[in-house]
Amino acid sequence: MIPVTKPFLPPKEDYISLIDDIWQRQWLTNNGPLVNELEEKLKNYLGVDNLLFLSNGTIAIQLAIKALELKGEIITTPFSYVATTSSIVWEGCTPVFVDIDSKSFNIDVNKIEEAITEKTSAILATHVYGNPCDIDTISKIAQKHNLKVIYDAAHCFGTLYKGKSVFSFGDISTGSFHATKVFHTIEGGAVFTKSSELLKKMSYFRNFGHETPIKFESIGINAKNSEFHAAMGLVNLNYIDEILLRRREISMYYDFKLSGFAHTKPQINEFAKFNYSYYPILLENERHVVKAIEVLNSNYIYPRRYFYPSLDTLPYVKESNVPVCKSIVNRVLCLPLYHSLKNEDVDLICRLLISSQ
Ligand SMILES: *Cc1c(COP(=O)(O)O)cnc(C)c1O
Repeated sequence: MIPVTKPFLPPKEDYISLIDDIWQRQWLTNNGPLVNELEEKLKNYLGVDNLLFLSNGTIAIQLAIKALELKGEIITTPFSYVATTSSIVWEGCTPVFVDIDSKSFNIDVNKIEEAITEKTSAILATHVYGNPCDIDTISKIAQKHNLKVIYDAAHCFGTLYKGKSVFSFGDISTGSFHATKVFHTIEGGAVFTKSSELLKKMSYFRNFGHETPIKFESIGINAKNSEFHAAMGLVNLNYIDEILLRRREISMYYDFKLSGFAHTKPQINEFAKFNYSYYPILLENERHVVKAIEVLNSNYIYPRRYFYPSLDTLPYVKESNVPVCKSIVNRVLCLPLYHSLKNEDVDLICRLLISSQ
């Protein structure tokens, strides 16, 4: 069976040795030494000033919205994972969907300004598949209209924009370290911000608002992560360069194998160093996608329609005029891509894919 993705699992002994230490200390969660070590090592690896390790990438978006005290409307993309939209609604705000760019699949910066109203408080954009948005234009628009910017950078571990981690942009960026992501801590996520004030605020939010065991600074929630999750992250960090390299190799091998096949791929931002977190292809129409899935599935290969559907069709939001997104969700297919995928697997996938059309 070839799934669309497989979590990276490090040598078991690496993990066990850190778990033995947890048994010695008997400190399982609540800002333990491994959580602190992981935060330091991640800051170092990514070259970012600040981050908070959290229990997942969804709570990261919710903390970001809360910390920026966003109200009213938030301009966002319909082409993302459901957590981008659900977090906005969960925090009591209204998502306003702006269509995506047909080349990058990221929010179309030329359509943002016409969606701004007196109720708009922020832009929440996703760097789709780890490919950075037009960050410079989004910053300019935000500055001009006095809006906050949050980036859902769940796919972006290892992506650089103008030589810096893409996590360092926006008022707050959020990451996911879920098992299916390029770098993972089983479940996990993070918020990134340059502002020490926002960092402090979110660190209280992360831990129920506790200042001391008997004194509360603010409202809070439980967004902490455990020593066991941090241990997985610390071990995986030793393999991340190898993982990123292998994904690049596989992606290039796909490119080679599919060079004569009728499809397109999202255009990578010219200022980016890309992390190859997904291998999306765009086919001519939905019928081609359905046929490709049918043929691949019958050979136990499971690509994924990702993202699907357009988020403006969720039952708790207002359907919007986003024709580019609606066309792309019907035609996009993510092919299997993970560290242990073999070139022979790619050969087979491509052969079947080509024969399906
Ligand atoms: C994975 C993902 C999330 C959610 O992250 P979790 O860690 O699974 O909560 C949010 N946004 C995008 C774009 C994602 O891919």
